This record gives sequence, structure tokens and C-alpha cells, in this order.
Amino acid sequence: MAVRRKLIKERVPTPERPPKERVKDFKEVNLGYTFELAVKEAERCLQCPYEYAPCIKGCPVHINIPGFISKLVEYRDNPDKAVREALRIIWNDNTLPAVTGRVCPQEDQCEGACVVGKVGDAVDIGKLERFVADYARKNGIEEELLCEFEEECTGELGKVAIVGAGPAGLTCAGELAKMGYKVTIFEALHKPGGVLAYGIPEFRLPKEILDHELAKLNRLGVEIKTDHVVGRTVTIEELLQEYDAVFIGTGAGTPKLLNIPGILLGRIYSANEFLTRVNLMKAYEFPEYDTPIAIGKKTIVIGAGNTAMDAARSALRLGSEVTIAYRRGREDMTARIEEIKHAEEEGVQFEFFLQPVEFIGDENGRVKAVKFERMRPLEERDKRGKRKIVGTGEYVTLEADTVIIAIGLEPNRIITETPGLKTNPNGTLVVDENLMTSIPGVFAGGDAIRGEATVILAMGDGKKAAKAICDYIEKKRAKANA
Ligand SMILES: Cc1cc2nc3c(=O)[nH]c(=O)nc-3n(C[C@H](O)[C@H](O)[C@H](O)COP(=O)(O)OP(=O)(O)OC[C@H]3O[C@@H](n4cnc5c(N)ncnc54)[C@H](O)[C@@H]3O)c2cc1C
Ligand code: SF4
Repeated sequence: MAVRRKLIKERVPTPERPPKERVKDFKEVNLGYTFELAVKEAERCLQCPYEYAPCIKGCPVHINIPGFISKLVEYRDNPDKAVREALRIIWNDNTLPAVTGRVCPQEDQCEGACVVGKVGDAVDIGKLERFVADYARKNGIEEELLCEFEEECTGELGKVAIVGAGPAGLTCAGELAKMGYKVTIFEALHKPGGVLAYGIPEFRLPKEILDHELAKLNRLGVEIKTDHVVGRTVTIEELLQEYDAVFIGTGAGTPKLLNIPGILLGRIYSANEFLTRVNLMKAYEFPEYDTPIAIGKKTIVIGAGNTAMDAARSALRLGSEVTIAYRRGREDMTARIEEIKHAEEEGVQFEFFLQPVEFIGDENGRVKAVKFERMRPLEERDKRGKRKIVGTGEYVTLEADTVIIAIGLEPNRIITETPGLKTNPNGTLVVDENLMTSIPGVFAGGDAIRGEATVILAMGDGKKAAKAICDYIEKKRAKANA
């Protein structure tokens, strides 16, 4: 195999659209590798042995990373073959690489563990994964592989209901379909995808990619029933009568709000409402699309996670000046490094150590300013390793005619009110080591059990639960037949 093992410290950069151009529209920012660039980057991988490779251990679904990267170098003279072989390896562990290649915080996962990263830039595993998925999609490479997978999808082994069509539910559904189960997903919204559809904007994850991934799932025989709010349209108890098992992947879609004076003023949004209007309902194309969005000239976004970054960059694209106000410091921000960099390049301003204490309104009942208390960091750290903060008693007021609150999310309460379903004090579902809830035959994963986490962790749960569901159904059958 012609794999080069010389250490090359610098990463091959991926082309990006310039900030001034991209801030005028919702098209994707990063343009991804060409085949030539991908091969050049693939050559930086040292091909650590499978049993040892730290990148595989760093990936929550354990993709054979050196394995797929080696195919790009090995078949460098035949791009179609290189991609087909690489995709086959990726699909063994992850059927949504076009999504994860774009949204995973690789710096904390596979790339955070890559040995090359100890002396230079880690191998750009995420962009290579994305390249393989994009090239395969654009060049019809997936067909042959899909046919191989389709053959396994007999739907004869049993029936499973999945609640929620986010990354956890979609992954669980795909895995079960491949194992031979008939799967039906019940989704509350009119479009599947969960946060991928309503939260993450087009400029990070184009919706045509999500639609393509969903179409693949249909090919595996998975049925998706939209506009079905489980707990209202149909209950878990009713699903258990018709299906052999149920998986709950309802996420954490309830926004936390600030209980401070002025919270009910006009033009104060939760990031969820703001992003749902913009992404799912395409309000940025109003009036071609019916849903409006009211946004002023100066927006303050409160929070500093991925949700805050997405809301800030969306507000910027709708023509507003945007400031992110965060109660902690720069190093405590939880958003992905790449997203923070993109936000800064595009002109989002940052204010640190500011805790909102009051929203101030105008004579029309709309917000016109936010009063903050200045905070100060302490040496002491909290459970998550972040420095604790205290108020200084000093106050500042910043003008804003729009405010977006992005301070976190909680699990959906409709589902957690199901009789017999145990929850933790923070509203997440209690599960055992096999991801089974307190109701036998009902499993759960993703943000519904973790609180707000990541796409790949939700997918990992979906995969683990699929295996546990299969074991559960087999055991139940064996007992019944004994
Ligand atoms: C704006 C934003 C940006 C993010 N950016 C990133 C990122 O860059 N990288 C990353 O890794 N993670 C990111 N995350 C986190 C990531 O999206 C989540 O961890 C992940 O989507 C969780 O997947 P899930 O399947 O558990 O839940 P979700 O994606 O929340 O999907 C749950 C689904 O269940 C449906 N549902 C809820 N209740 C019911 C019910 N009663 N009946 C039927 N259906 C129901 C919902 O409508 C939804 O479709 C981001 C989150 C947000 C909000
Ligand atoms: S750790 Fe880095 S160099 Fe080693 S196999 Fe993984 S990507 Fe390649």
C-alpha cells in the first residue's frame, strides 16, 4: 500500500467563502476538499494500527478512521473506487457521514486524540469524512452500497416504534432496519431531522444533504410518520401494544428562559423559536415562504454555545448588528472552535462576564436595552471544570431592539409525563446500561437521556439501543416459545 508515513505538521486547508460574501446569504461557508486536496491531507495520516489508533477510540461510534483514510491514498488514481471503498468502511459504523463530517466537535473527539496533533495540526478527519460522503452523493457512488444494505432489510424480525426523528432516532431506525426489523418513526414536527432540520442553519448543514440522508433511510424501508406528537396523538402505552419495542429519541428541545424583569417584552426570542422560524420555516425567504421574522438593527444574543453562535450568525444574515453577551470568559465558551472563528470573521461582537438582570422596554412594549451585571471569575472551578463567577455590583446597559436567549435546553415534558417513565431531577430519562428505561421494552437515547449534548453521542446511543432492542426482542421470543 502506497501510504506515506512522513510526518507533515501542517494541515491542508479547505477553501471557505470570504466573510463579506457569505454573510449576505445562507449558503454553506466551508466548500470542502477536492479529491486532490483530500488525498494530500490523507497522506498526513500515519496509519496507526487499528487496535491502537487513538482517533478510533476518540470517535463515539468508533469509525475505522485510518482504514477509510488509507483508501483515498491507495486508490488515488481512481477517485470513484477510492471513495466507494472509503464509504463502505465509514458506513459500517456511521450512516450519516455528510452530517457528522460537518457538525461534530472533532477537536474534542477523533482529532483531539490524533497523534499528529501532538506535534502539529491533527489530521483533518472531519473534512475527509465529509469529502467522502459529498463525493459519493454527487457522483452516484452510494447506489451499489445501498443495494448491498437493502438486501439485509427484510423487515421480518419484528416491529419497532421510534419516537423522534433526530440523530438518535434516525440512527436507531437505520440500524434496526439493517438487522431485519420493520421500523416506524413518529415525529412531532412536519419535517424529520430534529435539531439538524430546525436548529443548525443552512450555512453549516445544507438541507439538501439532510433530505438525501433521509431518502436513504426510506430506501431501507423505514417509515416516518410526521405530525405525530407522542403523548398526545398516540401514547407510549398504545405503541407498546402494537410494537415489540419502543425507542425514545425526543431530544432536549424545551428552551430555558431567564426569569428576570422584562422577559415578556416584544422581540425577545428563545433561540429555538428564532432558529425554527429561520431554518425550518425558511423565514429568511419571507414572503416567498409564509413565516415572518421580526428583527431589528441591533441584536443581543445571550449565551455562548453552538445555539448562540447559530442564532448570532443567522441574525447577522438577516441584516442586524449582533453582539454575543456571555456571563463567563472567552475560554469557557462551549461552541465549536470553528463556529466561534466563523462568527468573529463575519463581524459578530463578543462581550464577556456580563449577566443579564433586566430587559428594558420602549413605549410600544418592545425591548430597547438589556441591563447586565458585570461578573468576575474566581479561582474555584465548578463540576464541569469551568471557573466560578460572582457579581461585582457594577452594571452596564447595552442597547438592543432584538434579544435572542440561548442559555440551554431541557428535555421535552410531554414524553417525560408518561406514567411509569422515571426521570432524573433535570428531566432526563433514567436508563440502565442497555439504555432501557423504567418501562420494560422502552429504550431511550440522545439528548433525552443526556441533556443537551452532541449529534454523534446521540447517534452512538441510537446504535447501542438498536443492538439492545434486538437482544430484548430475541429473548422475549425465546421465553414465549419455551
Ligand atoms: C442550534 C443548535 C446547534 C447545535 N450544533 C451542534 C453541532 O454543531 N455539533 C453537535 O454535535 N451538536 C450540536 N447541537 C446539539 C445536537 O444537535 C443534539 O445533541 C442532537 O441533535 C441530539 O439528537 P437527538 O436525536 O437526541 O434529539 P433532537 O435532534 O432534538 O431530535 C428530537 C426529535 O424528537 C422530536 N420530538 C420531541 N418530542 C416528541 C414527541 N413527544 N413525539 C414525537 N416527536 C417528538 C423533535 O421534534 C425532534 O425532531 C446543536 C444543538 C442546537 C440546538
Ligand atoms: S491518530 Fe491520526 S495519524 Fe493516527 S491513524 Fe488516526 S488520524 Fe491517522
